Amino acid sequence: MHHLQLKLAALLASAAAVSCQNYTQLARTLSNTAQIYQPGSAAFNAAVLRWSNFSTPVANVVVVPGTENDVVETVKFANEYSLPFLATNGVHGSITTLGKMTSGIEIHMSQLNSIAVAQDGSTATIGGGVMSKNLTDALWAVGRQTAYDHHWASTDLETVTGTCECVGYMGPGLGGGHGWLQGRYGLVSDQYVSLNVVLANGSLITVDESSELFWAMKGAGHNFGIVTSIISKVYDIQYPNYAMETLIFSGDQVEDVYSLANQQWFTNASMPVDLINWSYWYFDPTIDAEKPVIAMYLIQEGVQTVDAAHTNPFLQLGPIATQNVSGTYRDLAAWTGISLNDTPCQKTGNANPRFPIYLKSYNATAQRQVYDLFNQATTNASTPFSDALFMFEGYSQQGVKAIGQNATAFAYREDNLLAAPLLTYAPNGPAVDAVASELGNKIRQILFEGSGEISLNTYVNYAYGDETPVAWYGSEQWRQNRLSALKEDFDPAGQFSFYAPIM
Ligand SMILES: Cc1cc2nc3c(=O)[nH]c(=O)nc-3n(C[C@H](O)[C@H](O)[C@H](O)COP(=O)(O)OP(=O)(O)OC[C@H]3O[C@@H](n4cnc5c(N)ncnc54)[C@H](O)[C@@H]3O)c2cc1C
Repeated sequence: MHHLQLKLAALLASAAAVSCQNYTQLARTLSNTAQIYQPGSAAFNAAVLRWSNFSTPVANVVVVPGTENDVVETVKFANEYSLPFLATNGVHGSITTLGKMTSGIEIHMSQLNSIAVAQDGSTATIGGGVMSKNLTDALWAVGRQTAYDHHWASTDLETVTGTCECVGYMGPGLGGGHGWLQGRYGLVSDQYVSLNVVLANGSLITVDESSELFWAMKGAGHNFGIVTSIISKVYDIQYPNYAMETLIFSGDQVEDVYSLANQQWFTNASMPVDLINWSYWYFDPTIDAEKPVIAMYLIQEGVQTVDAAHTNPFLQLGPIATQNVSGTYRDLAAWTGISLNDTPCQKTGNANPRFPIYLKSYNATAQRQVYDLFNQATTNASTPFSDALFMFEGYSQQGVKAIGQNATAFAYREDNLLAAPLLTYAPNGPAVDAVASELGNKIRQILFEGSGEISLNTYVNYAYGDETPVAWYGSEQWRQNRLSALKEDFDPAGQFSFYAPIM
């Protein structure tokens, strides 16, 4: 570890010494569609702006590759001048370890955005710079497009992507990748057939099930390379239509709501494959002037209205308000406030730390304790956290659990829920950062103690950054050993160690 830190320090020190002339040399090796943005330009400023303005990576130059080989050339150039580098795409990564990059090259993947569906309609080749929404939209248009062309396919297609429209397609998958369709097919990364990866030494390799690295790319992928393209499984769309029932509850009902959720889906039964339950806590004085509300979302595929068997038990608890909407799969992001038009897709300048924990079920007592803390934090007169959002994500899990617990580096298939307070605030110096960190960790600790688990399970893609590799990648020693050995083989100098480093 000491050895890696020294190497990293040397890389960071040498970055400043590279001149514009050197970048002209790099430009000569790149395709004519590649771009290089220097600091001070509007394009540079736009490219380095991030979703979370806290512990952000700093680059001296942005390279926008136009081809897969441009990534190879950029990494070779970085190696020649001992420069750090980091791949970016949707810029929603917010882990504090990114702040360890204090200079170097940002490799912005946005131009590698091609999507090509195979003739037999079972796979698609997807560029490393594709965004989640673009992939879904492209697959949903395949049937119409090809029917018009008198081509092979007659149906639109789907695959598992992250839920938020403005998040990269690749980013979520590298850490596992949760999405609306995971109950049917598994995680985003469970769909991978192969990946084209530029390694730390600048070589471009294809990684598939014949390679040990394939296992690691599916959950710990940030640590090993830059993915220039992937082949993913795709499927005929099974259930285009969806309905969602929103039930808004008073914070007084925390115990009742989550005891019922447990009874319905986590202790006596499991989440049905066609149902997803998310809930958000937030302070909206227009609904409750005193405390945060609980918004329960029951999302069901293949129906016009969510089945009464799912909604009635919750209606009997007496929500403050309810609403039913129906539409298609592509409406889900807007219904849950994560479409391109919603706040999570804007770069507001806020710091956006989250403190995630995976759970098997709810503990109603712990839910009450963290609600009270969250209430205090969002409503006290001088709080910076009035816009904070507490998220509880309960996807259906059949597709995820069907794949062996040890089959990939994603370690948490046995858990059922992803809980995370998002303590959004306007940056205002280290004191408020420290308050956020303390509060977020306190909330998470209560949920952890309430879970009865012996190790903290976190989602690496939501991680705050102060967790350990054990929490990101699983507490079993064999996982740590396997990942460490692969890291030694493929990234011995720790060049891919800005995002949740294995060691
Ligand atoms: C509003 C919001 C909604 C989210 N929704 C979901 C969700 O539904 N499901 C889910 O699983 N996660 C979700 N996440 C978490 C998401 O997985 C991570 O934030 C992820 O890092 C975002 O990827 P990005 O490309 O947008 O961000 P970036 O900051 O551009 O990338 C994050 C990191 O990924 C790596 N990276 C990106 N592209 C490549 C590449 N081509 N090759 C190699 N490395 C690469 C780099 O290490 C980079 O630092 C969400 C996050 C937010 C903020």
